[in-house]
Amino acid sequence: MVKLSQEEEEIVKLVGSFVNGRVRRVARELEHANTYPEDLIEQMKTMGVFGLNIPRPYGEFGVSTQCYALVTEELARGWMSLAGAFGGHSVVSMLILRFGTDEQRARYLPRMATGELRATMALTEPGGGSDLQALRTIACPDGGQWVVNGAKTWITNARRSDLIALLCKTDPAADPPHRGISILLAGKGPGLTISRDLPKLGYKGVESCELFFDDFRVPADAVLGGQPGRGFGQMMAGLEVGRIQVACRAVGVARAAFDDALRYAKERHSFGKAIWRHQSVGNYLADMATNIAAARQLCLHAAARFDSGERADLEAGMAKLFASEMAATVTLNAIRIHGGYGYSTEFDVERYFRDAPLMIVGEGTNEIQRNVIVRQLVARGDPLAPVG
Ligand SMILES: Cc1cc2nc3c(=O)[nH]c(=O)nc-3n(C[C@H](O)[C@H](O)[C@H](O)COP(=O)(O)OP(=O)(O)OC[C@H]3O[C@@H](n4cnc5c(N)ncnc54)[C@H](O)[C@@H]3O)c2cc1C
Repeated sequence: MVKLSQEEEEIVKLVGSFVNGRVRRVARELEHANTYPEDLIEQMKTMGVFGLNIPRPYGEFGVSTQCYALVTEELARGWMSLAGAFGGHSVVSMLILRFGTDEQRARYLPRMATGELRATMALTEPGGGSDLQALRTIACPDGGQWVVNGAKTWITNARRSDLIALLCKTDPAADPPHRGISILLAGKGPGLTISRDLPKLGYKGVESCELFFDDFRVPADAVLGGQPGRGFGQMMAGLEVGRIQVACRAVGVARAAFDDALRYAKERHSFGKAIWRHQSVGNYLADMATNIAAARQLCLHAAARFDSGERADLEAGMAKLFASEMAATVTLNAIRIHGGYGYSTEFDVERYFRDAPLMIVGEGTNEIQRNVIVRQLVARGDPLAPVG
């Protein structure tokens, strides 16, 4: 169940109006041209979107994770790339808020709240993204600094972010390996090369890049929380909120596809009636709406669990798994309902269909989500109990 304050309801409505009034009319053209949405991002900054989960004294809002979830859904309903442009940023702000030192919070959060400072997180490496404990980017202490060598790939918003939450090994010999992993809060400088933007099926307009670190130096106090060796656990907590965000992006994309399909099914006629009156088409619409509503409830449930302070990897994993698979099916069915026009680049449904698979892969693949879910099913006493 959704429990928003009056102010949070207003924020969700404001973002919904922004999407209806400003985003939807330009998204198709920007997406097809793969153009960075400079104006829209600036408007998001003005609206306070980049600081949504940053409370006072660092920011203005500090909304609940349910509000954050619904704002994400609204943005993705307009254009998934906009929700993605603040996804990694919001995870990094949560990491600094929860695990950062007082000095790190004061240094980064006020500028992150306004969007003046954008942040991204760099986990995935060319050798693999699922097995994070096997990562190969290494930071060695040297003369009061960390010297980083290695490579990261698929790092979204890398060019426009001046803060990178960089997951790396600070003790490659640690046993178990996760004890040797840290998050460095890194700026940009000599030794860091952003070599290329990877070509993508969808999620256009925002860049996903390869990064190379060649004797790249960061200060000793760049370790999140000040103590090395805690980065793996910190990032797992960050990924709980990241997975809720990705799940909500899936709900938003599916909702856009459903809205377009419903409208089309009312307008389009065949055999003397609106096509929604054909039982096959009506059934698609009924199933689409039912699955979207169910996915949203999983997202809200995971968000409430996250805010309760309890471990939420089971709930976030379920939300991400269900919502992303749902979005892939719903966007395909929206194409079916549009008939031949569904395959046309002059309609938006083809974009939803191209955007949806990212949510299956990103922030940990759905195969990994199933691993996380089953581990928690076994570990927790009665994981599906309706109360307590
Ligand atoms: C557009 C886009 C944007 C991205 N943005 C970012 C970003 O900003 N920052 C970032 O760090 N990363 C980012 N990623 C990377 C993304 O998180 C990884 O692609 C994802 O985690 C999978 O890693 P991989 O591609 O190396 O696949 P691999 O780990 O090589 O997996 C390949 C296949 O094997 C399966 N598999 C692997 N291990 C297991 C297992 N134990 N059990 C079952 N199946 C398994 C996987 O599920 C998958 O099907 C982005 C990716 C994309 C496509």
